Amino acid sequence: MPDLDTIVNLCKRRGFVFPSSEIYGGFGGFWDYGPLGAELKRNIKDAWWRATVQERDDVVGLDASIVMSPRIWEASGHVATFTDPLVDCRQCKRRSRTDELKDAKCPYCGGVVGEARNFNLMFKTFIGPVEEEAAVAYLRPETAQAIFANFKNVLNASRRKLPFGIAQIGKAFRNEITPGKFIFRDREFDQMELEYFVKPAESRAAHEQWVQARIDWYVRYGIRRENLSLFHQPKEELAHYSDATTDILYKFPFGDEELEGIANRTDFDLTEHAKHSGEELTYFDDETNERYVPHVIEPSAGVDRSLLAFLLDAYDEEPDKDGTRVVLRLHPTLAPVKVAVLPLSKKDTLTPLARSIACALRKQWSVQYDETQAIGRRYRRQDEIGTPLCVTVDFDSLEDKRVTVRDRDSMTQERVPIADLVPILREKLGAL
Ligand code: ATP
Repeated sequence: MPDLDTIVNLCKRRGFVFPSSEIYGGFGGFWDYGPLGAELKRNIKDAWWRATVQERDDVVGLDASIVMSPRIWEASGHVATFTDPLVDCRQCKRRSRTDELKDAKCPYCGGVVGEARNFNLMFKTFIGPVEEEAAVAYLRPETAQAIFANFKNVLNASRRKLPFGIAQIGKAFRNEITPGKFIFRDREFDQMELEYFVKPAESRAAHEQWVQARIDWYVRYGIRRENLSLFHQPKEELAHYSDATTDILYKFPFGDEELEGIANRTDFDLTEHAKHSGEELTYFDDETNERYVPHVIEPSAGVDRSLLAFLLDAYDEEPDKDGTRVVLRLHPTLAPVKVAVLPLSKKDTLTPLARSIACALRKQWSVQYDETQAIGRRYRRQDEIGTPLCVTVDFDSLEDKRVTVRDRDSMTQERVPIADLVPILREKLGAL
């Protein structure tokens, strides 16, 4: 596995991820996704949505507002308890979370630290022109609460029966004390969350099923199973809402760290929102003629962390005649560019045909057209960004109406008729 710097450099050089506000010296904990990163991120979200919503008949989607009534965060417990204990070093003045201390000393300089105080991780803002306490609102620190707040709306509108889920992808914000490890811990990030409502007696089994389903998803899109592990949070570490939480950890270069948490949130959230809002957030079970509060299983994944894991797992270096070939073996579904169209020469005898092929393929896939440099270097550039297939147009193509399709992983080349290109590429890329 590459070290983190290798991936950070690749991301910067090839346009996956840039430090936010870089021309002003950067802005800690914030990142910008460049042309390739934006595609990769979208593809990850789409792959999650496909597996979690589209391929199932028991999950529906939601896209709620980021800023919501502050009463939501009072009910959920975030105003009171979404805090990290924070200490200041008396010597170097840097801040740390207490779980980062080394032998109760500052992790940076070994200095003595002051008293711990609780620091709420929610970003505050004001709604309307007056900056007063009554106008305070929060940027959501998780997408989940909007799902609970809409439970009744979705239930009424979609007429679902238990078990059913509501899924959402969107931005979340946390004023992390120590952001870092590239895009692993950010102050602004994307979450992919599902709240899966079940009959109380079925929550344990559903929890286990979702842990397995989520492992399967990572493996389906290219993460090696041996790089994933499970961590069952001990009772004393559980969040205030959770009865049991299993984390899926990934073997990052800086250690085995959380990629996703799958929590059994019981009936905590619906019960609290019912209490605080005065609305009845229950479910009528017409099989048993009972009304009750469903329990909920929550697989909560971070887009940025999985993007980092997909890049790390895909990265490969292998010796070749010019030194080293760097290749991102990304799953074709995730690859930011699916096909590169490369005319062997930039002479205008060849380029019109190559451009017309690129133009036709763009209707199906994201395509890069590149006529610069020697062909070998162009293949290497595509390998490095994970493009699964290259289509090379040469002078014979003008006569025989055939082009060469080159495979990223095996580097094998196959000559195929231009007329059959779309079905052949589709077959090679697999079902996207
Ligand atoms: P950690 O213990 O690493 O802070 P957490 O347990 O607080 O994470 P959850 O509240 O369970 O995280 O959030 C669910 C998912 O959201 C995490 O598994 C992670 O993928 C993502 N996530 C949480 N915080 C961040 C962050 N600051 N930056 C990027 N992704 C994050």
